[in-house]
Amino acid sequence: MDFGLKGRKAIVCAASMGLGKASAIALGKEGAELVIVARRREILAQAADDIAAQTGVRPMTVVADVTTPDGRGAIISACPNPDILINNAGGPPAGDFRNFGRDDWIKALDANMIAPIELIKATVDGMMARGFGRIVNVTSHAVKAPVAMLALSNGARTGLTGFIAGLARTTAARNVTINNILPGTFDTDRLKSNLTALAKNTARDVAAVTDEIRDANPTRRFGHPDEFGAVCAFLCSVQAGYMTGQNILVDGGAYPGTF
Ligand code: NAP
Repeated sequence: MDFGLKGRKAIVCAASMGLGKASAIALGKEGAELVIVARRREILAQAADDIAAQTGVRPMTVVADVTTPDGRGAIISACPNPDILINNAGGPPAGDFRNFGRDDWIKALDANMIAPIELIKATVDGMMARGFGRIVNVTSHAVKAPVAMLALSNGARTGLTGFIAGLARTTAARNVTINNILPGTFDTDRLKSNLTALAKNTARDVAAVTDEIRDANPTRRFGHPDEFGAVCAFLCSVQAGYMTGQNILVDGGAYPGTF
């Protein structure tokens, strides 16, 4: 299937590793022009080389922190009129909410709620004026099935989800869709750090915790980031124009509900 993305301009945030990088690769394979963002210059440059090798598309790199106004300004300067915006950032630390203070909450809100809202604010009106836009926010399975240890993530991402539910209905008539993808357990550095935290909190061995979580998934495996990237690219496609305001769970069937 041709997703109709050839020559479309895509900003992919937090794209030097993991799910963001996989999304950039999937969009690059569809012929989108890429602007990829992360804070660490060398890892981002290496990601640009990998993406170019896999897709034939050389991404522009922007070394920026999406949580700061300067960082977001640098992203928009590099790509003032994107057709596609993938909002992503690192996840907040795991832990008991009793140990988190106001600064921890503000950091989580900055990364996982306010940064995406500000980047949408900077780009959505242009997309609506041009009659095409695809915005995808990377959130978490914890939005649908909260994990107590991920208190900061549960709170901040659910705030973003509520905001998107309202906004998405106001942009659809101009062919601008806004959806969230809720990853389950994907084999990335973030997953490894969550499993390490879980092992520490429960005084168990990391290998044992990893086996237990993997085997509890209906697929008996963790997701591959490429599987996430493919869903992201589809949501950006021309064909997905009638899907908006949705929360798409990609978790190997781990969420046990009928809906
Ligand atoms: P990852 O492998 O740790 O990669 C995180 C990426 O984000 C890196 O490229 C990192 O590069 C970049 N980044 C982090 N903070 C940033 C910032 N403030 N500004 C710009 N770039 C930033 O993480 P992942 O597994 O791909 O996860 C992506 C998101 O999905 C996270 O929010 C995570 O919590 C969420 N999630 C993941 C899973 C999973 O199973 N993997 C499950 C549920 C939710 P720099 O550090 O160089 O900036």
